[in-house]
Amino acid sequence: MDFDLSEKHKLLRDRVRQFAAEKVAPVADKFDRTQQFPLDNFRAMGKLGLTGLAIPEEFGGSGADHLAFAIAAEELSRACASTSDILNAHLALCTEPIFMYGNAQQRKKFLPDLVKAEKVGAFGITEADAGSDIASIKSTAVRQGDHYVLNGIKVFITNGDVSDTAVVFANIPELGKRGMTAFIVENGMTGYIKGKKYDKLGMRAGTNCDLVFENCRVPLENRLGEEGQGMAICLSILDYGRIGIAAQGVGLAQAALDLASSYSRGRKQFGSPICSNQGISWKLADIYTQLEAARLLTYKAAWLADRKQPFSLCAAMAKLTATELAMKAATEGVQIMGGYGYMMDSPMQRYFRDAKLTTIYEGTSEVQRMVISRALTRA
Ligand SMILES: Cc1cc2nc3c(=O)[nH]c(=O)nc-3n(C[C@H](O)[C@H](O)[C@H](O)COP(=O)(O)OP(=O)(O)OC[C@H]3O[C@@H](n4cnc5c(N)ncnc54)[C@H](O)[C@@H]3O)c2cc1C
Repeated sequence: MDFDLSEKHKLLRDRVRQFAAEKVAPVADKFDRTQQFPLDNFRAMGKLGLTGLAIPEEFGGSGADHLAFAIAAEELSRACASTSDILNAHLALCTEPIFMYGNAQQRKKFLPDLVKAEKVGAFGITEADAGSDIASIKSTAVRQGDHYVLNGIKVFITNGDVSDTAVVFANIPELGKRGMTAFIVENGMTGYIKGKKYDKLGMRAGTNCDLVFENCRVPLENRLGEEGQGMAICLSILDYGRIGIAAQGVGLAQAALDLASSYSRGRKQFGSPICSNQGISWKLADIYTQLEAARLLTYKAAWLADRKQPFSLCAAMAKLTATELAMKAATEGVQIMGGYGYMMDSPMQRYFRDAKLTTIYEGTSEVQRMVISRALTRA
């Protein structure tokens, strides 16, 4: 076994760390307050090659692997989890699925602009009555000649309002329970409407809206994969996406630990730094230890994916461990900083608000436990 990162991965980590420190961290609070999509930094991620990680060079990508993506997602999340969230929705949930399931024509048409960050990608499965239970979506796609006619509403969609291209799912009614099918939808299609925008607790730079389909005409050539392949495509996309969310959790937990640890060394009460109390230092020791475990699980999930070995169980374990840890690290971080951690001018409160989402989207912690326990009982 080799726990060391390759020189290439170390170089990428250092480059993303520097970019995150110089360009992302300084504007993280501003975009959190204004709830605006950080378009300049999104385009800058394109120039750095981050929006094309894990996409082969022939399509303009960086030709890197999922471990590289996990490292980049972690480093971005340390500075601004929303920026990592935006990259995940764009790359893991839209660009990569088009690369993995798209035909030659679709790859040629959509990948270059997405990879260069000239267009923004999004992903829509969730509906008002279909959250954890994605099989219960009600959106329909009825074939009429050389088009499908889509009807339905996708809710909460990350990057939705700023997206140019989205991978969405609808049922083809005549196929019954096996009818879920994936489609690539583009701005300007008749009957494709950007709906309600959301005001959120955290991850506020990653903007969300509903995607509304009212007799939306989607050409046959925009179907992604085969009719009825949608559920398999969706589950596979979510597996890859969970590596990204696990990495977000690791980055957030690291940020909370760094801040809590340095604060606890500087803050004196009763004549000594607060870190000299076991009540504080043991909290930090637990988070430090669990962070190492969460990072290893996350890297292992990416490593398995890169070797084309089954990785969905490991991705679920990584997401569960890393995102619950992010919430714990941020909660304890606020506690360790006392009133100062509760104030809006401390980034700790942002970590706390951002961390909560990581335990909810792309499968809640309960859903990850379902995946893990099913694998265990099947075994
Ligand atoms: C900010 C944000 C961004 C999002 N971005 C996207 C996006 O880009 N694209 C997209 O398609 N979706 C997106 N989502 C949707 C997200 O993936 C869902 O919110 C999530 O899967 C949970 O679904 P739900 O909110 O409907 O909760 P529900 O499924 O209603 O769950 C509510 C609670 O019940 C629990 N629960 C449900 N079933 C079980 C069970 N069988 N056993 C135990 N507990 C259970 C859940 O864990 C949860 O705690 C986003 C959501 C948010 C909040």
